[in-house]
Amino acid sequence: MSEHEVHSGHDHEHGPGCGHARAERAGHVDYVHDGHAHAPHADHVDEHPMPHLAHPGHDHGHEPGCGHAPIAHGDHVDYAHDGHRHAAHDDHYDEH
Ligand SMILES: [Zn+2]
Ligand SMILES: [Zn+2]
Ligand SMILES: [Zn+2]
Ligand SMILES: [Zn+2]
Ligand SMILES: [Zn+2]
Ligand SMILES: [Zn+2]
Ligand SMILES: [Zn+2]
Repeated sequence: MSEHEVHSGHDHEHGPGCGHARAERAGHVDYVHDGHAHAPHADHVDEHPMPHLAHPGHDHGHEPGCGHAPIAHGDHVDYAHDGHRHAAHDDHYDEH
């Protein structure tokens, strides 16, 4: 058993079609939501480092006053909509 970070108090069950962004990793899948990456593991959920996951086909430009809720996240701002959080990155948006 290796040490790993467990996300406690997680009452959502991630799975195919759960609506969260997925990142295929070596041997498992990370689900990105609320600024965290979670990987289902046995009967709990592990906290993983954020993968770089670009949101494809994002036509809307987030900016202050765009109508979406800004959320401070480390050194940048995420914008929340449709159950996702997006952070501007170069010419696209990342899932956060
Ligand atoms: Zn989920
Ligand atoms: Zn989760
Ligand atoms: Zn675990
Ligand atoms: Zn927006
Ligand atoms: Zn967005
Ligand atoms: Zn990016
Ligand atoms: Zn972020």
